[in-house]
Amino acid sequence: MIDQIKGLHHVTSMAADANDNNSFFTRTLGLRRVKKTVNFDAPEVYHLYYGDEIGTPGSVMTSFPFAQMPRGARGIGEVGMTEFAVPKGSLPFWKDRLSTHGVTGLRDDSFLGETRLGFEGPDGDSYALVEADPRGRTPWTGSDVPEHAGVLGFHGARMRLRDAAATGELLQFMGYRKDETAGNVTRYRIEGGNAADVIDLEALPGGRAARQGAGSVHHIAFAVEDRAAQAEVRKALLDTGYQVTPVIDRDYFWAIYFRTPGGVLFEVATNEPGFDRDEDSRHLGQSLQLPTRYQPLRDRIQANLPVITD
Ligand code: ZN
Repeated sequence: MIDQIKGLHHVTSMAADANDNNSFFTRTLGLRRVKKTVNFDAPEVYHLYYGDEIGTPGSVMTSFPFAQMPRGARGIGEVGMTEFAVPKGSLPFWKDRLSTHGVTGLRDDSFLGETRLGFEGPDGDSYALVEADPRGRTPWTGSDVPEHAGVLGFHGARMRLRDAAATGELLQFMGYRKDETAGNVTRYRIEGGNAADVIDLEALPGGRAARQGAGSVHHIAFAVEDRAAQAEVRKALLDTGYQVTPVIDRDYFWAIYFRTPGGVLFEVATNEPGFDRDEDSRHLGQSLQLPTRYQPLRDRIQANLPVITD
């Protein structure tokens, strides 16, 4: 069993319109944009990162806004819901705020004793705010969301799977412990990690396969402290038979990827070096940062990207 994984690092989704995406995460949810860069494989597409003040692992939602991308459809074989933690008692504020901001799909819910508010993102993406203890986390205070209601980071994520057993075994191999079960959903939780420590597996044996598109989660990343821990995780996964990529430098973390039995793309990302490696922490996310290999093409790349209105 692996004991280096510390919970979620980031969740990456695909989107259609860069401005709608930016506005939703910064102006509606009150997250800080901590990086504005481009997709490593498609520099005509932004890679936008949103999180707490410094983009603490476990708080970072990232988006690839492919203009004109058709909307995906929720189904099995994907992360079907991304959950953010908010302070206890803040959901009435959020229900009012999201409704005022024109957010659709609002639904009050409770699950395993937690109070939550489900809602949709601008591309039909599925989110929930879950009331939770702060556990040392603080929200970004640079938005108009009051601090007592601000998003603390991720609570967890829910995967929808035809057969949850193999992915459940994988999570346990990764250090998660099987927790409570309610209906067809089993909760897994990691001990001694960051506060983004919950993964729920929903078994839907007769479900239709998800169709990837705008609003779909592209992959989900788990946090390890550093490159040494990541190398240990990579070796353990390879020894167990997973096809794991080599370590890839993503500028703000190092990444490895592998596909799970249920079809979801997993990443294991390092907490080092972080988002302040190429810009001052006071100005994170404000100007376009480019991977080294694209820097000579800066003018052309910038001219092809839509202007984001902050
Ligand atoms: Zn990633």
